[in-house]
Amino acid sequence: MENSKIDELICLTAWSAAFMDGQKDGSKATEDEKNIVRAMRAFFKMDADRFNTAYDRYKTYSDHLIELQDKDPITKIVARYSALKVAFKENEDGADKSNLSDKEWEYIKKIDDSINIKIVYNDIKDEAYKLLDLIINYEKEKLDGYNPDSQIIVNIWYLLREFFNSLEKNNLFDVWEENYLALIKYKSEMQDVFGENPFLKEFDEKYKKQKPLISNFKKEKLAKEKQLAKEKAEEEKQLAKEKAELEKNKTHEYSVSNGIHYCKYCGGDEKWRQFDCKRELGHKYTLRRVQNKFGFDYSFQPVCNNCGDIRHYCQPDNKYEFKCKVK
Ligand SMILES: [Zn+2]
Ligand SMILES: [Zn+2]
Repeated sequence: MENSKIDELICLTAWSAAFMDGQKDGSKATEDEKNIVRAMRAFFKMDADRFNTAYDRYKTYSDHLIELQDKDPITKIVARYSALKVAFKENEDGADKSNLSDKEWEYIKKIDDSINIKIVYNDIKDEAYKLLDLIINYEKEKLDGYNPDSQIIVNIWYLLREFFNSLEKNNLFDVWEENYLALIKYKSEMQDVFGENPFLKEFDEKYKKQKPLISNFKKEKLAKEKQLAKEKAEEEKQLAKEKAELEKNKTHEYSVSNGIHYCKYCGGDEKWRQFDCKRELGHKYTLRRVQNKFGFDYSFQPVCNNCGDIRHYCQPDNKYEFKCKVK
């Protein structure tokens, strides 16, 4: 299967936002939503044939996102914000602009997971929406006798710069490198769609200078991730141990002597099996001949070896949580 061009991927991402049923024939798109994509196609000089051919390449509304994954940052950004623009369109006059449907959010989330640049959204969103507004008003501007192309192109490259600045600000040197390499990889395709990248030389030089730094950064990051994973594994092990200990504390361990069943840790007999044992109190009972609680006669009762506590008639201490103290 032939891959889509970057501008086709952008328009498909926006177009799919208008159809959120998960299948292509579930038409729910409003004219307003479709018009956004039409305006985008006008800017990208994409006729219906080219768009339809791209559209027919995919089975579902999100299949094309796989191709978006490794594309250049401009394509990713414009695709995401155009989809948001479309998704918000039907709510634009409503009281709550953030009122997207679950399916729409799900789709946006899918885009976010594909393009994997969430960290910069805050820094670029104003520029991104500004750019989208320019693109959406493309035809209207043309009708009014303006040529908005150059303005849009300027904004696109400005946005790219904001994007890389944001990565630097956040010390994301590995993401910086990844996206710089995408600029190189898609250089000619980007040039066809967005014109020549005015910052490429600047980025080239920066990359040359920063390469050792970036590789160090990646090494350190990897080491840190390994360390964190190790700590997490240890923490989980400790938690499992504590859980097992808690479970153990609840379990009785019966002994039998002189026909009497009693638990070594709480002194209770079989009828206490339905309740939790209290091993954590620390007693350790064995059967001894002691004077009965009421009366002067003697019988065998569980007595704690450590503190001398007597569990008369095998009644464990369930109320007072009486802790063992070694005499
Ligand atoms: Zn017990
Ligand atoms: Zn005791």
